[in-house]
Amino acid sequence: MMVTMMCFRLRPSFPHLLSLRLLGTAASRTVAVKPPDHDSAALAFEDPSAFRVKSWSELLRALGVFHFCSFPLLVNNCGKLMSIARTLLGRRGFSLLLRPTVYAQFVAGESESEISQSMEKMSLLRLRPMLAVPIEEDLGESTGYEKRYDDNMDAMLECVRISHSNAWCKDPMMQLKITALLSPELCVKLTTVTAQQLYDLSLLVRALDGEPVSFPGLNESEAAHFLCALRRLNKIGEASANKVRVLVDAEYTYMNPALSLVTMAMMKKFNKDGVWIWNTYQCYLKESRSLLLEALRLSQDEGFCLGVKLVRGAYMDKERKLAEKEGCLDPIHQSWEDTNDSYNGSLDVMLRVISQSPERYRIIVASHNEESVRLAAQQMEELGIDKDGGSVCFGQLLGMCDHVSLTLAKEGYAVYKSVPYGSVDDTLPYLVRRAQENRTVLQGIRKERDLLRQELYRRICAR
Ligand SMILES: Cc1cc2nc3c(=O)[nH]c(=O)nc-3n(C[C@H](O)[C@H](O)[C@H](O)COP(=O)(O)OP(=O)(O)OC[C@H]3O[C@@H](n4cnc5c(N)ncnc54)[C@H](O)[C@@H]3O)c2cc1C
Repeated sequence: MMVTMMCFRLRPSFPHLLSLRLLGTAASRTVAVKPPDHDSAALAFEDPSAFRVKSWSELLRALGVFHFCSFPLLVNNCGKLMSIARTLLGRRGFSLLLRPTVYAQFVAGESESEISQSMEKMSLLRLRPMLAVPIEEDLGESTGYEKRYDDNMDAMLECVRISHSNAWCKDPMMQLKITALLSPELCVKLTTVTAQQLYDLSLLVRALDGEPVSFPGLNESEAAHFLCALRRLNKIGEASANKVRVLVDAEYTYMNPALSLVTMAMMKKFNKDGVWIWNTYQCYLKESRSLLLEALRLSQDEGFCLGVKLVRGAYMDKERKLAEKEGCLDPIHQSWEDTNDSYNGSLDVMLRVISQSPERYRIIVASHNEESVRLAAQQMEELGIDKDGGSVCFGQLLGMCDHVSLTLAKEGYAVYKSVPYGSVDDTLPYLVRRAQENRTVLQGIRKERDLLRQELYRRICAR
């Protein structure tokens, strides 16, 4: 059963791929990089003055945490280390250790007033928040009870409220993990079922609207859970429409087609006149370009606006291990360079459609990679796309690559920080997973450490 399930991974959820006249040849090539001009030269990300806005304690904390992250052994085993520390120190002692250090670096806080404080600080730095409720669930981790998913929905609705009821930024965003509302097991089943039997988006839209439709290929209890999950998603869609942009996360290939199907149905319902629901495209996947082109085709055919979060992808090791174990083709590009080409190529595709219809398409360049960010900025200039027109923005994780985020914000681009919040216990699994997903980025932040050090020396000398 598992082998069959995993082998469906390489099929895009919407199989008939049409060529898009709109895109011309852009889809098949990577952008040629022009020598840096005047504006993109400002994006060398080498100016330590970006850190002048940080307090002494923030500088010292960032240096300490990044020093810790520079040891691969510590990052690779941070889950185990944290659980040993928790056993030795107890819950309170562990929280006392983590709160002023790792937690303060990567998490906004627990109470609404703590979150507000962090967000107000960010807003002074012209950074925008993209709040994320850190709910982590994979196969075998779900409880299967509707109450748990209803509680998660309440947490998401609270996130919508916090995001828009405060004056931190004019165009708030939040992240949404569908597996917090729909069991990962059913996502896998839906991925298998819809690979053989297409579900029409209208069917899902009717279910979002509360109609008791029946879903081919699902048994009674699966169909009942799917209906409940779609109603939960509908509540979030209704609460957020015209207020907060909801960016749906991409997860593992064995469930992504189901996540995309549900997201596209939400787009069909909520994105008629604006981009409120967004989907994520992981460029480390060999199929990512065809999935993006298929989404563009679908948005044209079905008449909805498309929002794209473009990432390289966070689950490379696990995907590769699974492919090997199941004897399937590795879904990930062979090398980092291939993933890079794929990222830059998809970026090119999106920027071109945006330059033609900025009101119908939006992208967030969700990357810490300086070259991709510079490339996006350079192409925006060439294509005449507004820095802060709303159709293109940038995203980095809270506490990571602030030299990139602060420089972009200083130059007038729209920059979002993905901001998790919650108690130490609730955010711990998220922090561990994020540290491991981003260990290449964390271990490569030598430049950010150097810039932090330069700022520290400047302050010491100025005393
Ligand atoms: C706002 C935001 C939202 C995000 N949402 C999601 C999401 O929904 N889903 C998700 O999966 N990730 C998500 N991410 C995480 C993102 O995928 C990682 O931060 C990202 O992979 C790191 O890539 P980079 O472009 O920042 O850095 P880089 O250092 O340029 O790239 C590192 C990435 O390249 C790829 N890579 C590295 N080595 C190889 C290799 N040998 N072969 C092939 N590819 C390789 C991997 O994807 C690796 O993570 C999000 C990130 C941000 C900032």
